[in-house]
Formats: sequence, structure tokens, C-alpha cells
Amino acid sequence: MTQSESSIFVQVAIPVPLRQLFTYAVPQALLSSELTIGERVTVPFGPRQVIGIVLSISESTDLPTNKIKSVVSRVKDNFHFDAPLLQFLQRCADYYHHPMGDVCQQALPVLLRQLKQPDVSLPVSWVCSNQPDTAKIEALKKKASKQFALFELIASHPSITWAELRTLGFTKTQLNALENKELVEKKEREPVIFKWRESSLNENNKLKLSVEQAVVVSAIEQTNKRFSCHLIDGITGSGKTEVYLQAMEEILASNKQVLVLVPEIGLTPQTLNRFEQRFNVPICLHHSGLNNNERLQTWLEAQRGSAAIVIGTRSAIFTPLHQLGMIIIDEEHDGSFKQQDSFRYHGRDMAILRARQLDIPIILGSATPSLESLQNALSGKYHYHQLLNRAGQSTTSKIELINVAQHQMEFGLSDTLKSEINKTVKRGEQVLIFLNRRGFAPAINCQECHWIADCQRCNKPYTLHQNKQLLMCHHCGSQKRIPHQCDSCGSIRIKPLGQGTEQLEQRIDELFPDYSCVRIDRDSTSRKGELAKLLQEVTDKKHQILLGTQMLAKGHHFPDVTLVAMLDIDGALFSFDFRAAEHMAQLLVQVAGRAGRESKPGKVLVQTSYPEHPLLQDLVNNGYKHFAEYALTERQQAYLPPFSFQALFRAEANYPSYPDKFLREICNHQYEGCELAGPIPAAMEKRGGKYRFHLIVQSKSRKQLHQAIHRMLLHIPTNEWNTKVRWSVDVDPIDLSW
Ligand code: ADP
Ligand code: ZN
Ligand code: ZN
Repeated sequence: MTQSESSIFVQVAIPVPLRQLFTYAVPQALLSSELTIGERVTVPFGPRQVIGIVLSISESTDLPTNKIKSVVSRVKDNFHFDAPLLQFLQRCADYYHHPMGDVCQQALPVLLRQLKQPDVSLPVSWVCSNQPDTAKIEALKKKASKQFALFELIASHPSITWAELRTLGFTKTQLNALENKELVEKKEREPVIFKWRESSLNENNKLKLSVEQAVVVSAIEQTNKRFSCHLIDGITGSGKTEVYLQAMEEILASNKQVLVLVPEIGLTPQTLNRFEQRFNVPICLHHSGLNNNERLQTWLEAQRGSAAIVIGTRSAIFTPLHQLGMIIIDEEHDGSFKQQDSFRYHGRDMAILRARQLDIPIILGSATPSLESLQNALSGKYHYHQLLNRAGQSTTSKIELINVAQHQMEFGLSDTLKSEINKTVKRGEQVLIFLNRRGFAPAINCQECHWIADCQRCNKPYTLHQNKQLLMCHHCGSQKRIPHQCDSCGSIRIKPLGQGTEQLEQRIDELFPDYSCVRIDRDSTSRKGELAKLLQEVTDKKHQILLGTQMLAKGHHFPDVTLVAMLDIDGALFSFDFRAAEHMAQLLVQVAGRAGRESKPGKVLVQTSYPEHPLLQDLVNNGYKHFAEYALTERQQAYLPPFSFQALFRAEANYPSYPDKFLREICNHQYEGCELAGPIPAAMEKRGGKYRFHLIVQSKSRKQLHQAIHRMLLHIPTNEWNTKVRWSVDVDPIDLSW
């Protein structure tokens, strides 16, 4: 192209894994309307075309103009990323050293990433023309009564859509005729921006706050809607949600929007319910259970300002919001806020960044705060609020340990536990049994030679799924038929080894035939809407025994559960990952928190082979806070996060030497203020047929850590092994076993 055709160039973020922006020329023909930063354009990239986002506009470029390709077209709609959101996305990209093009794409609803763009304009409505020709109207009245009726109707409404007119029996021909006569014209409907009214609050189910709660709400209010981060450390059932609701009220009343992040979709129906009952305002959901169109609608309503509250999972943090006034992160400790592939961001941490940028308050709530947040609260960086008592009449339940070595066991259940289950269901109350292992059995083995059916791609046992009649690898997803013979000795004596939820469900049906047991895990809730249905059945008391994996630990409210049992939790006591103890303590306390939530007292029984283990003893006798403070001193002594900062380089390839050498090459340089640990084979050394290695970079200074990562990334293009491995960098990794 020649200079004379255009002198406008744009730098565009496009969805390719390259750490750079791309410059394109904008042909004169596309410049009839003003170009804006944040708008979408179609650009050529290699043999294909992609949708990109304009990040800057310039009148000159240093690049040779004959090499520059041109923008193909501009997406003409009124949706574009505004400057503050783009700035936020750029900060996220910088923090995680992730390509901006990919960050922008992930922040965009799927439908807006596609070449064929959906129509996101507001419904068009019809109005009467400014000065309709009276002679023409008179003519209609005489000769075309239908058209006249249509004109009268449109003239008598402030705005009416074609869809509405059609249902009233009018045709497109009649409407076109009126338009041709210039009697009516199209107008885009104005977005309805949310406005607080007196009726927006449902006064009658607003609770009178306890003193503890009231102190928190007023402390939040005193920060005057400016940036401040509040950690509410409150035991399950202490009324954190009520605090959120009352803190939000003031924000909504000033016509600002509230963004609520929750860990998982399972939480959303119940949370939604509480919010809907309190506020008569438009509430939009954003989670992976919605289809692309539903997600786009949430997006648009948030951006236009019609949604007052947006409740969503992790990626909702990138929602454009017209007037965001507060962010709330419920269950802030939850691992699902961290994305574990490609763009490895932490929804909570980015939420804090966004709140700071917008100068608005953010509330983190949990019964088991992450050690990171707790440390920030204890050191005074966050406002720290504790709720120590259960709200209403419910009482806290005590955790008791059952030493499995000293009990008669049947199907993994001790005699004490069985008799407690019996007593509870007989009283008409419900039991929750927690077993964090789905499938029928975690392995199958040969009774003669002890051979175990392993996934060859991961060197880990296959899980037996009896309902599906399959062996499944929970690491790489591969599946295979159940063998009838041992691969090693040919024996047909092949048996399941250990117990998963599928098997326990069968056993419980045998042990308690008069009661109904429901299993809640990823297998039993894979169909859309199934989880909500099962949870409703539990609330309706169709089942007396609930059995499930950690899906059950998350925030659900089961008023009639008075006994919680936890089986087989010992694995986490002996993990090499320094965060395993923290995660195990959180899980235990969260699951225990499901017991006795109403007026009935609850009981929590934990079966273990290690009742003397200090971690269990500390939790049982002194509670989570005590455990957490102790764990923090341990971390401090060992210079582990949150007292230092980490990044994890992962590399994998078909041969173990490649990732090892790739990471070794990175270690060949000096990085000021940083320690390098590795390369070492990952805890899961092989996965999906690939050999995996880790390199941990650690520093006491976040700045020096970022500088080191920056330099490491600069060296990578010249790393000899670069093209032979797949690699990634994970800033603030939370799971080193992965
Ligand atoms: P959390 O979110 O901390 O688990 P919730 O907000 O769900 O706690 O509250 C637990 C229960 O206590 C709910 O049934 C709620 O209606 C009730 N509750 C909360 N605050 C109060 C209050 N101030 N007075 C009476 N009941 C309350
Ligand atoms: Zn064998
Ligand atoms: Zn596998």
C-alpha cells in the first residue's frame, strides 16, 4: 500500500500467543466515522482474518509501509472497551507476563471474538416523524385504513418495536409503506440505566444486624466509597452474606453497580436467591453454565448500566461496568478463583487491582481466609473484621476425630459413624458424607500378582467408573474398556482397589435401605441444571443422606444437616506442597461448617489413621484461626509466600531431557534478588504422554521477581530448546503439584 492511501495506523491486540501488538494501516474508506481506542477491527493475520482490538492510533509508523497490511473492516456497533478497562487489562497482562492480545480476547465474550459478529445494537423502535405531512395522513385515512391505524398506534406510543407491532397484527409491508412516506422513522432504543428507587429495597426481609455485623457494615461505610480492602473473617453461618447485602445497599442507592464474585456455578443459584429477595433491581449472572448468548447479554447489560448487580465466577472480573461502585469476593480462599491454564490469573487479586484503579471498596469474605489475605489483614494492609459468633440461633459444631485403627470398619465406615448416621436419620435429620474421590474405585488390581491398570500416558492408576463401564484417567481424561484379564499374568481375578463416591453410594443403599441417598459429584451433576435439581431435592428433604466430593463443601446451605462425616482425608497430611496443609484445613472447616446451620446442634466426625497429627489436633482443639497463625509463622521462618513471592516456569515435551535443558538454560543467567529452585521433575512427572519439569523463581521483593521474569522471557527466543517444549509461566502459583 502507498502512503497516500492512508496516514492512520493502528496497533492492534490480536489473539495469538505472541508478546507484541501488530500495526495495521486504516484505509481512507474506513475512516468515515471517528476511530476509537478499544473498538474491534477485522485484520488479516497470515492466511486468516481475526478480530482484534485497537489499542492505539498514530499518524506515522517506524515500520516500512510496504510491509504493513490494512485493516479489513471495522465492527460497527456501540460496544467497545473503554480506557479504564483497557488500562486494567494491560495491568493484568503486565502482572502475569501474559500477551495482551490473549488477555483482551479472554475478556471478550466468545460471540464478540468471532469474525461473524452478532448484532449487539439495542432493539430498534419506531416513532412518528418530526413533522409528518398532514396531507399524507388524510390520504391514508381515506384509502388505507390499516396503514392509518398503524400510524395512529405508533404516534400514540413513545417507542414501539417491530416485534410488538407484529403481535398486534400489522405487516412489514404496511410499516415499510409508512416509512417510505416519511411518516414514521426508526430509532435505537435508549438503554434503560438502572436507577435506585424506594421500591428497590425489600425492607421486610432485611435482618437486624448483630453488634458484630453492625460494626463491620459501619466500618465499610466509613471508608466513604473510596478504595479500601476489607477482609471479613467470619465462621460459617456468622452472617457474612447479610453484611454484604447491607454494605451493598448504600452503593446501589447511589446508583452504582456491584460486582459479586463467587467460586463456582454451584453457589450461584442460592446466592442469586438471597440477592433477589433483598433487592428489586436487575441482577445478571455470568458463569460457565450459561450459553454464549446469555453471557453476551450479561456483558452488554453490565456495560450499558442496565444491570445493577452482576454475580459471576472468576472471569466476571473482566466485565465492563458502566458505574462500578463495589466488588465483593465471597469465599475468597477458594482455589477456583485462580485460572490454571493459559492466562493464569487470580480473580481475587485482579479484583483488588481493579478496585484500586476505580477507587472503590472491595470486600473479601471467608470462614477460612487464605494465608495471603490473612497476612495482609494482620499487617494492616487490609481492614480486618472478625465475626466470631453464628448469626440467629444456630450453634457451632465440634469436630471429633475417629481413629480408624481402633474401630470395626465396614465399607470404609466405622461402627461409631454408622450408629451416628442411624440416629440422625431416625430423628428425621440429614447426614452429609464427604469423600473427595469420585468414581467407583481409584484403581483396579490383580489379586494374583498385584498388577495395577495404569494410564500409560501419565503413569498413574486408572479410576474405575462402574456406571459407565469404563476406566478413566483423571489426569489426562483418557478412557479404556475394563480389562477381563491381568495384563501381567493373565489372571482373571481383577478387583477394584479402594473406594470412590460411586461405590460408597451403593454401600450406603445396602446399609440404610429405608433411607434415600443422593450423590453429588462432577459425574452426577454433569448435565446442565442437574446440580440445582439435586440441591433442591435435598432442601425438599427427598434424601436423608447426601454423599459427595468437595462440590458439597462450597457455601451450600442445608438447614437440616446435623451430622457431617469426612472419610479418607489423610492424603493431604503428607503432601510435599507447602500449601497442602492450608487447603486441607480450609476444606475440613468448610465441610464441617455445613453442620447445624439452623437451630439444631450439629456434629462433625472425621475418620483418620492419624488422629495425633499436629495439624488435625490444632484444628480440632483451637480452630482455623489458630492453625492459620501458626502456619504463617512457619511460612515466615521458611521465607515462603506470603513472606516471599514466587513464579513457576513449567515446561513439558515428549522426552524428559528437553524440558530439563530448556529450564537449565534459563538458569544460566543471573537474576538479582531471586533464588531459583530446579529444574526438577514435576510431582506429576508425566501427564498425557508428556514429561514435565518445574523451575521455581522466588524473591522477597515482588519488583525483583517481576524484573527477573521479564529478563527470562527476553532470553527465551534464543533458548536452544524453545521450539522443542511447551512452556508457561505462572505468577503466584497456588498449586505446585500441577
Ligand atoms: P455466612 O454467609 O457467614 O455463612 P449467612 O449470611 O448465610 O452466613 O447467615 C447464616 C444464617 O444466619 C442465615 O440463615 C441468615 O439468614 C441468618 N442471619 C444472618 N444475619 C442475621 C441476623 N443479623 N439476625 C438473624 N439472623 C441472621
Ligand atoms: Zn496379575
Ligand atoms: Zn492419563
